Amino acid sequence: KYNFCAGPAALPEAVLNRAQQEMADWQGKGLSIMEMSHRSPEFVGVAQQAEADLRELLSISDDFAVLFLQGGASTQFAAIPLNLLGDKGTADYVNTGQWSKKAIKEAGRYCDVNVVASSEGTNFSTIPPLADWQLNPNAAYLHYTPNETIGGVEFFEEPQVDVPLVADMSSTILSRKIDVNKYDMIYAGAQKNIGPAGLTLVIIRKTLLDRALPICPAMLNYKVADDNDSMYNTPPTYAWYLSGLVFQWLKEQGGIEAMEVINRRKAAKLYDYIDGSGFYANPVEKQSRSLMNIPFTLANSDLDKAFLAEAEELGLLNLKGHRSVGGMRASIYNAVPEAAVDALIAFMSDFAARHSA
Ligand code: PLP
Repeated sequence: KYNFCAGPAALPEAVLNRAQQEMADWQGKGLSIMEMSHRSPEFVGVAQQAEADLRELLSISDDFAVLFLQGGASTQFAAIPLNLLGDKGTADYVNTGQWSKKAIKEAGRYCDVNVVASSEGTNFSTIPPLADWQLNPNAAYLHYTPNETIGGVEFFEEPQVDVPLVADMSSTILSRKIDVNKYDMIYAGAQKNIGPAGLTLVIIRKTLLDRALPICPAMLNYKVADDNDSMYNTPPTYAWYLSGLVFQWLKEQGGIEAMEVINRRKAAKLYDYIDGSGFYANPVEKQSRSLMNIPFTLANSDLDKAFLAEAEELGLLNLKGHRSVGGMRASIYNAVPEAAVDALIAFMSDFAARHSA
């Protein structure tokens, strides 16, 4: 079966097999990694290896701290202003979809949010041109969402701004090469391209670690996390371990460059098929189409239920679009093989042939 879920998403089969083998008896220790102290040399070794592998995969320099946190990307919507506002009472946000909106709403509890640009007018099917952004030179930072998981809109260039650049990479991290040095903070919920739910990754420039507001809870404070090697309290050890297995798997596949080639091929195939079908449609402007999340509609939405039922019968799972937009969505993260996209296109083509007028 192929899993097109937007998150929690498919994990590489090899990772699941290895985790299963090690589930009850990790490396001959007679107990599961889940049952070990996070301060044991065994777990600390696993944690450090995961960080080293991630640093290698993304070429993260020593200028950045890598934090393994909890609370999901949504907790970061609050943690970011609490840590980064400093003595500035305002931050810039770009509104390109449902996740941007949530980040904006949460930041509004702590500061004046300046929405520098919004694509709401095009129903979030475009990226607002950078030249039109109303940037505030006194903003504490600029926040944007490089890939909107629900709308399927992706930025392929980093905004060039003079304030710290903060990116919610929950659904794009590890899918294609990025230059981490162009950012000041990157964060991501794990449950798409990193590992299972429960872990949240933060990559942050070390010079930003000293700006937390006095009211920032210790559990959300990046400096506290960094000073304690992400173990201020008990971390989500099993999710951290599994994410480490995913990083090893990515290295075995040839790293991010190799994944990007496959990801671009997978996405191009599906978009080309949709555009040429005359039956399915994707609303996003061509240059901003997500490589990871591909929403599409059928010519007649009365057929949605039949489409989903038949797809499921064929083992093509979780294609229902997000409740806020309807239609379908195929999420094709790293762990979704190219054969899954081929099988989906074959089914879509057959379905369209049977239901076209
Ligand atoms: N940001 C983006 C881009 C997402 O896709 C999601 C979840 O799907 C979130 C934030 C929220 O993540 P979490 O559920 O880990 O809080």
